[in-house]
Amino acid sequence: MVGLVVVSHSATLAQGVRELADQMVQGQVQIAVAGGIDDPEQPIGTDPMKVMAAIESVFSDDGVLVLMDLGSALLSAEMALEFLPEEQQAKVVLCAAPLVEGTMAAAVQAMVGGNLTRVKAEAEGALTVKVTQLNLPAPEIINVPVAQSTVENSEETHEIRLEVGNKMGLHARPAANFVRTANQFQSEIRVRKGEKSANAKSINQVATLGVRHGETILITAVGADSHAAIEAIKQLAAENFGENEQVTEPEVTEMAVLPTSKEGQLQGIAASPGIAIGPVLQYRPKLPTIVRETGKDSRAAWQQLQTAVQTAVTELNAIQQQTEQQVGSEEAAIFEAHQLILQDPDLQTAVQTILETEQINAEAAWHETIEETAEKFAAMDDPYFQARAADVLDVGNRVLRHLLGVQMPSLEAERPYVLVAADLTPSDTAQLDPARVLAICTELGGATAHSAILARALGIPAVVGAGHALADIDEGQMVGIDGRTGQIWLTPDDEQIGELQAARDDWQAAQQVAKAASQAIAHTADDVRIEVAANIGGPHDVDVALSFGAEGVGLFRTEFLFLDRQEAPSEVEQLAAYRQAVAGLGARPLIIRTLDVGGDKPLPYLDLGEEENPFLGWRGIRFCLDKPEIFLPQLRAILQASVREDGTSANVKLMFPMIGTLAELRRAKAMLQTAREQLQAEGKLFAADLAVGIMIELPSAVAVADALAAEVDFFSIGTNDLTQYVMAADRGNANVAELAQAFQPAVLRMIRQTAVAAKQANIWVGMCGELAGNPLATPLLLGLGLTELSMAAPSIPAVKAALRNWTVPEAEALAVEVLGLDSVTAVQSHLEAAQK
Ligand code: PEP
Ligand code: MG
Repeated sequence: MVGLVVVSHSATLAQGVRELADQMVQGQVQIAVAGGIDDPEQPIGTDPMKVMAAIESVFSDDGVLVLMDLGSALLSAEMALEFLPEEQQAKVVLCAAPLVEGTMAAAVQAMVGGNLTRVKAEAEGALTVKVTQLNLPAPEIINVPVAQSTVENSEETHEIRLEVGNKMGLHARPAANFVRTANQFQSEIRVRKGEKSANAKSINQVATLGVRHGETILITAVGADSHAAIEAIKQLAAENFGENEQVTEPEVTEMAVLPTSKEGQLQGIAASPGIAIGPVLQYRPKLPTIVRETGKDSRAAWQQLQTAVQTAVTELNAIQQQTEQQVGSEEAAIFEAHQLILQDPDLQTAVQTILETEQINAEAAWHETIEETAEKFAAMDDPYFQARAADVLDVGNRVLRHLLGVQMPSLEAERPYVLVAADLTPSDTAQLDPARVLAICTELGGATAHSAILARALGIPAVVGAGHALADIDEGQMVGIDGRTGQIWLTPDDEQIGELQAARDDWQAAQQVAKAASQAIAHTADDVRIEVAANIGGPHDVDVALSFGAEGVGLFRTEFLFLDRQEAPSEVEQLAAYRQAVAGLGARPLIIRTLDVGGDKPLPYLDLGEEENPFLGWRGIRFCLDKPEIFLPQLRAILQASVREDGTSANVKLMFPMIGTLAELRRAKAMLQTAREQLQAEGKLFAADLAVGIMIELPSAVAVADALAAEVDFFSIGTNDLTQYVMAADRGNANVAELAQAFQPAVLRMIRQTAVAAKQANIWVGMCGELAGNPLATPLLLGLGLTELSMAAPSIPAVKAALRNWTVPEAEALAVEVLGLDSVTAVQSHLEAAQK
């Protein structure tokens, strides 16, 4: 860990600065002081020998940062450096940061394990908070290294000027990708727009720059890997900062917004098209008033806050995964940005400073810091960035709820409803059930808020920004809403209800026509049938899946039935859920995957225990094979779901996750056989010929795919896990996101090997990992011989359209070319160039 030395003319001042920093980092960082001189008559001054002794006392191979007050302090520090042995000199850096702010920032950065360059950069950027608060222009001096003769003269600097092409500018999602990329490098990286400058590793700073479409930014990286950092950022910008705008920016701006409200009506902003009539459910989650209490132990408060933040980050990660699986990765990216907001070093430092200096309770310090950050967004000119204030408040309130121990109110209701709220957070929206929520009306918000984006992705009509009058609507009152125009009918009479119903029916009919293309059965240009199916998390996702043109369900992630409960669902409950999905799908296929918990999907009541490496641990089939009391009821429920209540057969298939060996497959099949025998003995019906497949998501499964193929009816490739295991890169770790890409040549070869083994054994092979929903990959997967693709429902129309453009021989030729390429970038560029 980097050590710190505080040099001051006054011993008292040096001690005071250390005391302050010590409190912040709870003594976890080595901080030495060199204050005053040993002359009782004249104690004010600096002494090079004292500075040297201080450096030596905190020296380690990670280095030492020296912070000084002024004048002779600099000279003494430079002399002290000369006295040190040469090999130590190289690891001691003098820093021009302001003494108090710089020491605080450096201490925090050292505590979190930052290297010397990073600690120095944090210290030098420490004035930014003050400068921003006082509304001053950013002083150039912050980033200019001083004492160049002794420090950092080997540091490389690289710069790039970029025009931001994203339609909405560098808003939350591209900003998150930008920050994530910057954080992969040790160099200090700053981004400048006009007079404003920001730390490229801080999501809050980057977002508050308010970079809009067409604006130019200057990115400067200083440090040993600055060249690589700039290259990576250049690449990211060339890829539109990782944003696929066709998917993320629906044409909401073209929706008409009527200027005024009429009698009995409210006018809001059209946010998600569709018409609905139904009873109101008022959703008003309230936090208790935050009381500011003084005289608190700052360390305890900081600990309390860290625990709450960590819990919130874990929850957001789960919501991100769920949204990715049910809506799509583009929409899920917002929850990654939310995690970055919570972990933002600026935000952390700001709240820590309040705790230290004002000794108040954690809730008050957090609340004040979040409000202030949100206000900065709200005060920006651009409505898009103004809307980001809601994101900050959303994540902030999540932490507050944990600090205060407050639960969210339930959204359960007996019949479908129109959800009315002051505002809806993206995380609230992501968790809505489109089958229960007819429409959304909010007092606040804009059409580009993430909750509106999610509502569109979920296909829920929405009107936002309709004003405070919504608060007066009684629970259960019938209202009508038109998400195309922003109109709300507060108490529609029979005639209006009739008109609204007619308009709703017309709209739905028009939608049907628009969706007809995606409803058509998928086939290639040479008329080869490919099944395009949806991934679902529960039976309530079936309707949305069908509306996007799903031809079946290629992956039912049954673990969602096990979440948010105190105990595992019974066989009867599971059977009901599977039958509900069967009923929704009619004759279409339903592939039910057995429980895949563990890894990133822990379930407290299943007693999985703490694991060093959960992804390499007791997950999926490994857990189920050891827990027949959980596994058998599920197998029995799936078997029974293969026959409908009226005794006719249902198109159900069963799939085991995480199979890594032939022995595991055989044990799983033996357990299935036990379930069959039990049911038979009990006189219960099931399909004797139920198709049984496995996910191919472990490299070991690919290696023995020929042996596995001989014992199953189908393969479905899970590229999400296959990629992380092949590349040894955690699928949820932003720092290794470059590696964890399914376009890695190593992963593509694994897919080919699996497809070859399936073909030789004469079984079909499909894919249900995220890659299946990427239209860029569609011809490649077709060319590799996959005949089924299952994905988040919103991706279906684009994948079907891509399939229609390719013949199988063309796709096969493309696959041969792509498999000969040697990098992700080469694969992507080749597929982009080949796109029709
Ligand atoms: C996969 O790993 O690709 C997959 C589809 O399974 P999950 O994402 O649920 O782990
Ligand atoms: Mg998986």
